[in-house]
Amino acid sequence: MLHHVPQRPPFRDFPADEWNIIERGFHPEFLAQLETVLALGNGYFGMRGCPEEGGPTAENATLVNGFYETHPIVYVEGAYGFARTGQTILSVTDSKIIKLFVDDEPFWLPNANLLRYERRLNMKSGTLDREILWETPAGKQVSIISRRLVSFVNRHVAAISYRIMLLNAAAPVVISSEMKANEPSALIDTNDPRQTKAFADRVLHARTDYAKDSRIVLCHATAKSRLAVTCATDQLLETSCPHSYKTAHAEDFGQVVFTIDARPDCSIHLTKYMVYHTSPTAPPEELCGRAEWTMDRVMEQGFEQLLASQEQYLDDFWRRSDVRIADVREDRTKRSTLEIQQAARFNLFQILQASARAEDRGVPAKGLTGQAYEGHYFWDTEIYLLPFLIYTSPSIAKNLLRFRYNMLAQARGRARELGHRGAMFPWRTISGEEASAYYAAGTAQYHINADIMYALRKYVQATGDDQFLRDCGAEMLVETARLWLDLGFYSEAKGGKFCINSVTGPDEYNTVVNNNAYTNLMARENLRYAAQTVQSLRATNPDGYDSLVHKTALAPSEAEEWLRAANSMYVPYDERRKIILQDDSFLDREPWNFRDTPPEHYPLLLFYHPLNIYRKRVIKQADVVLAMFLLGGAFSLEEKKRSFEFYDPLTTGDSSLSSCVEAIIAAQVGDTEKAIRYGMAALLMDLADVGGNVKDGCHIASMGGTWMMVTYGLGGMRDDDGTLAFWPRRAPEDNAVLRFPVTYRGQMLEVEIGQGKVEYTLRVGESLVIRHETEEIQLTRENPTLVRPLSIVLPA
Ligand code: BGC
Repeated sequence: MLHHVPQRPPFRDFPADEWNIIERGFHPEFLAQLETVLALGNGYFGMRGCPEEGGPTAENATLVNGFYETHPIVYVEGAYGFARTGQTILSVTDSKIIKLFVDDEPFWLPNANLLRYERRLNMKSGTLDREILWETPAGKQVSIISRRLVSFVNRHVAAISYRIMLLNAAAPVVISSEMKANEPSALIDTNDPRQTKAFADRVLHARTDYAKDSRIVLCHATAKSRLAVTCATDQLLETSCPHSYKTAHAEDFGQVVFTIDARPDCSIHLTKYMVYHTSPTAPPEELCGRAEWTMDRVMEQGFEQLLASQEQYLDDFWRRSDVRIADVREDRTKRSTLEIQQAARFNLFQILQASARAEDRGVPAKGLTGQAYEGHYFWDTEIYLLPFLIYTSPSIAKNLLRFRYNMLAQARGRARELGHRGAMFPWRTISGEEASAYYAAGTAQYHINADIMYALRKYVQATGDDQFLRDCGAEMLVETARLWLDLGFYSEAKGGKFCINSVTGPDEYNTVVNNNAYTNLMARENLRYAAQTVQSLRATNPDGYDSLVHKTALAPSEAEEWLRAANSMYVPYDERRKIILQDDSFLDREPWNFRDTPPEHYPLLLFYHPLNIYRKRVIKQADVVLAMFLLGGAFSLEEKKRSFEFYDPLTTGDSSLSSCVEAIIAAQVGDTEKAIRYGMAALLMDLADVGGNVKDGCHIASMGGTWMMVTYGLGGMRDDDGTLAFWPRRAPEDNAVLRFPVTYRGQMLEVEIGQGKVEYTLRVGESLVIRHETEEIQLTRENPTLVRPLSIVLPA
């Protein structure tokens, strides 16, 4: 069921447009939502879509991925093994401020007489563009045209091109290009656990500040996490109007003020370059030096070159990743098709902005568009984002998996702390240490270990990167398999089956349960994949095997023990309904009274004590239904149907991670109406503010889910048996044509579905074998295309 009730009306005014998200007219009432939607980022750092003038803003933030401060987690009543140290992403120096004064009148959006105002997030050029025509109180018309980018190619760089022109009169003009650190936080303390709490004290401590001509450098460091950030700006003014400038700086502030004697129709063009470097180890002088080297290089290139490389980067991205939707009856201006196209691209674009240059870091739940969830990395990355990245940008996917590998030592430590063998990955983290303050819906989500291994397997299968499996994957597999074996036991009460007790599955409304089906099924996969990897290494690569034994002290008998546990894995089942049960006591719980729950009481977590929720039969997000999607081959169509019909009405969708999965299974079991309803909710989660909290940041996991809806849902893609397979479905209306590319083992396939047929084309590569329904087909460079009719039979 869908119970979402947006807490504020969504911003409904984005005109349908294939490549742009457009805000027409200034909308102060939607400041926060627009800051999120129009945010720019590259996975390393991000800037919310606040105006150049430094205000007005709802939550002005410049976020560097993984730049955080720690704080003690205060428990009134603590217990052994609770996470003790919180980690919270920080907003760093705001460098994008450009204030404008004409005739000494400040340009300030809320009270300016705006003859024209438009902002657009351009997803082809990766820029936030703004066009304004301002009439000053004295009747002077000023054109202000700016373009902002956060560079994908130059990981540390952002730039703004800011052009003004007086149209009908001369006037003295002042442009103050500024940077500010330690701005008071707009975050407010609420009881919403999804939001980030503000630090009471100053968190960025000044290390150095200096200026050279029009360049200013500020360096700050955190006290506890001991991270340093340098922000440098430099600015270039081009105009034939007479002008001069002055530079000033202090610990938290930098300013270059240009004074211009502006004539009508004389162009004034400011280019501002912004550079961020962070480090846990480099001393301030070195970090400032790094920022200056980067600055010298990009200034030499200039803005046009930055823009050209940005466009080139995005061209490549869209070639590998674009999901195209067309309506063959109508032209491209048809509104609903265009809206779907726009939302699909927006979602993919935001994933890129969240992950492209993350490199040695993870992907926060909100990307770098907002501070909610404290900038933490969750399972969202492996289960919701990685499928898209694996099949479109495998090198980004690999970085993210390597990042998990790099936290293996901490995961081993955490397992020891909890008395387990093997490794236990943190439920939420930045540094690699567990940072979840609520163990029931945090640490207890052991399934994250299996989720990471699930993504590893998908990555290795889709890329053939056996080297990564040998060098990093195998070690993670051994340690996670050990964890499962240690955590579970052969239960007499369950006929000697292998049971895993006191865990929380994906559904956070049923916590610390016995035998959560999702966890057990995913753990089973984890154990099997670990055993299979170790055995195949032993058989085919003795050196690789020896090195693994050396790294993990692996005993020869372990793989057999993992297989035994996997093959005896207990999965709760209800004989009467013939469905897998979410956990052992799911049916013992009293049904939630949906009828008397007012719509404004969703999400339930904001209106009911956890105990009131935990004792009832009510679900936050897809759990068994998610397992049926991820492990599709293990369930028959009938089983999926019965389970969906049972679980769907109990599922509130209070987590944005739910709708996309429900949509896929609804489509699989032939419930077209629900597939469309959930599908649209997932697709428009952020653009239409479906969850009512887009102000806090984009829902990156749901965005990844929309790609899965297209490929796995409509395309019927399957990749769990070593061959890439498709069983496409007829769209509800056969006028739509859907096209998406998939990179598989270095080759690129394009799938086009519509008008009763599916067309497979090998776009890059020599030869590729795939399966269409049950038929194996080969595409080659000579014969790259094959067409097949769409069947009406649903796959088993
Ligand atoms: C969901 C989790 C998710 C987290 C971050 C929570 O509301 O229940 O599954 O990992 O949000 O997106």
